[in-house]
Amino acid sequence: MQKVKLDRRGAIAAAALVAALGVVTVIAFTSRSRAADDTSITVNVPPAVNDRIYASPTAEGRPIVVIDAGHGGRDPGATSVSGEVHEKDLTLALAQELRDELVKRGRVRVAMSRNDDSYLDLEQRAAVARRLNAAMFVSLHMDSAPNPMARGASIYSLSDVASDAEAARFAAIENEGAMTGEGNGSVEAMLGDLAMQTQMSESADLAARLVNRSAGRFELRPDPHRFAAFHVLRRADTPAVLFEAGYLSNADDELLLRSPQHRAAIVLALAQAIEADIATRSHR
Ligand code: ZN
Repeated sequence: MQKVKLDRRGAIAAAALVAALGVVTVIAFTSRSRAADDTSITVNVPPAVNDRIYASPTAEGRPIVVIDAGHGGRDPGATSVSGEVHEKDLTLALAQELRDELVKRGRVRVAMSRNDDSYLDLEQRAAVARRLNAAMFVSLHMDSAPNPMARGASIYSLSDVASDAEAARFAAIENEGAMTGEGNGSVEAMLGDLAMQTQMSESADLAARLVNRSAGRFELRPDPHRFAAFHVLRRADTPAVLFEAGYLSNADDELLLRSPQHRAAIVLALAQAIEADIATRSHR
């Protein structure tokens, strides 16, 4: 009898506990959903980033190459000697042609920092490569120099010290607007970093391949592989080069860079070098 009584009391206690837990659960759930509502109203959430990947069906799971069309939007880059074209338009054309060629060949997947006339800062460009865990970052540019005879393509990879005064000048132009100096902004701060050393050496290998594939196909500057402290290359966190396709300040180069046939020769050399480099690194 007593036992039954105890059980009944126990059952009542258990029922009370269940009810209490239920109330607690309901309260917790209510307060959680209220908190979620509050968050969506009051917190300034950054816009969702949806990086588009371009690939043929056969390239599923292949490494991602980020193509970065230099400049864009309110930043036109260099203006051609004729005054008719801006660097930002030609880098976009070259980037789209390179993307299409790489997708057609099917050995890598491709992402683009921009595919229209948008303005992006250097950090936003490099962030695409980091978000996608890209295997490579290729930034496309064209130069402009005070000397109207200067012409030809060159390939830059990252280093703390510029290879020459011209490379330092070019890097200073391309770094405009980037945070430099303190903490994570400076290349110098990263020199002791082993990952950065590896990134620099792999980037130099990639640049050397690009020179080899380009030689004889279109005009290169003397000593075409140059080094400088490019912010966008350092922040890409992956082997990265800056391909400078020629001089818009030179009349012959302007004509060539505006010609789809000439750009096709550049695109083929770039595509072959990119694929060779990816293949070599994935077999290591
Ligand atoms: Zn540029």
